[in-house]
Amino acid sequence: MSGFGESPEPLVNSYVSLVAARADEARQRIAHAQKLSGAPQVVTLVAVTKTYGVDAVQAAWACGIADIGENKVQEAEGKMNAIALPVRWHLIGHLQRNKARQAVRFNLIHSIDSYRLALAVNETAAAANRVQPVLVQVNVSEEATKGGFATSDVAAFADQLSKCNNLSVTGVMTMAPFNATEAVLRTVFAGARNVAEQLRVAGHPATELSMGMSGDFEIAVQEGATLVRLGTVLFGNRASS
Ligand SMILES: *Cc1c(COP(=O)(O)O)cnc(C)c1O
Repeated sequence: MSGFGESPEPLVNSYVSLVAARADEARQRIAHAQKLSGAPQVVTLVAVTKTYGVDAVQAAWACGIADIGENKVQEAEGKMNAIALPVRWHLIGHLQRNKARQAVRFNLIHSIDSYRLALAVNETAAAANRVQPVLVQVNVSEEATKGGFATSDVAAFADQLSKCNNLSVTGVMTMAPFNATEAVLRTVFAGARNVAEQLRVAGHPATELSMGMSGDFEIAVQEGATLVRLGTVLFGNRASS
């Protein structure tokens, strides 16, 4: 029990060491998944700090995580403006076209889910004289509740994207169904891998595979994930919103 008048500092340190211990465990699980399957790729851990405060970003940074994922532009901007750490910001949630202007503040946008959105981001990036790295979001299992392209639509979209000179299509993002079996997870992640291959054939760099969350990242890594997006395993359960 903390006594009256005690400095709050030990509490802060204990939060950082808690996150550090969880990050270590996540890294070990990633390394183990790679060893099991011989997966050779470099895997970047993206700490998903949505719903948490800037203290979560600071804790991630303190334990060597430089990639931060947020699912809402406005919430992310609040944190960007509040801290000066040189973290890389990832937008992992659905992006509304009217927020495309702010979205170019992100190092990587994972959620390009329509041609209209691609055009809006391309236009903003052009105005900012910048080539914006983006991922194409694919809805491999075609769940009605999830955004993203059906895999059968990717070939046509890949050609359209070639006209967006201010976008660099560096890969694919997908989300697997919640509570899916291992077999389904593997099918979904392999589907995303195939989409990345299609994008490369169409001339896009597309080497990144953003897939795997707290419940399924080991399978995702075995299937080739290069970016895993981890929230709960690092920061604990989010309050439901
Ligand atoms: C919230 C979120 C995550 C992280 O989910 P956890 O299960 O907490 O690891 C990953 N990706 C996206 C797109 C999210 O919205």
